[in-house]
Amino acid sequence: MNLILLGPPGCGKGTQAVNLVKKYDYYQLSTGDMLREAVANETQTGKIVKDVLASGKLVDDELIIKIMEEKLIATKSKPGRIFDGFPRTLIQANELEGLLKRYQMKLDLVIELVVDQHSLLERILKRAKESEEKRDDDNSVIVKKRLEVYNKETKPIVDFYSSKYNLNKIDGMQSIQEVSNTIENLIENKH
Ligand code: AMP
Repeated sequence: MNLILLGPPGCGKGTQAVNLVKKYDYYQLSTGDMLREAVANETQTGKIVKDVLASGKLVDDELIIKIMEEKLIATKSKPGRIFDGFPRTLIQANELEGLLKRYQMKLDLVIELVVDQHSLLERILKRAKESEEKRDDDNSVIVKKRLEVYNKETKPIVDFYSSKYNLNKIDGMQSIQEVSNTIENLIENKH
């Protein structure tokens, strides 16, 4: 099972991905988490991306695709993968098609969590306050930038997936449990 969770920062992708990892032993491929880990460990990649992450802009497609390819290979034996925060550009979406073909994998589900734009800033700032993990990009100026970048660079991939796949839109304003139930139903129906 390979599934993509699409949606803006703060829509609940991470929360839902963690739930699917627990329930189905899928692997969460969160590029944001991978990049933050690289920054924390001060790796070569971490040094390259640190300032980009703090600015709210996107990391180069080429670097992201390289990281993703390594992770696809490393997780080949997992029963499923959840793409969380990837792809984020049309280039990444096209490259993912090529990668999946190369490693004899296919995309089973594409899910978009639809959330009211006005509530995103509030949601992210609330999450930041409650979370133990402090992020450099969780202040209101950078969050606004991240939302702007999402609308400009990532939103077009919703059309890409609607035309190529059956895009499942879920109302992300529902409770976490309701969203989880809907996602799990979609997964069960694929089995
Ligand atoms: P996230 O945790 O998904 O909100 O990602 C945090 C930051 O990591 C983003 O604002 C980008 O700077 C970077 N990032 C994460 N995923 C990607 C991606 N697929 N392409 C480019 N940059 C990314």
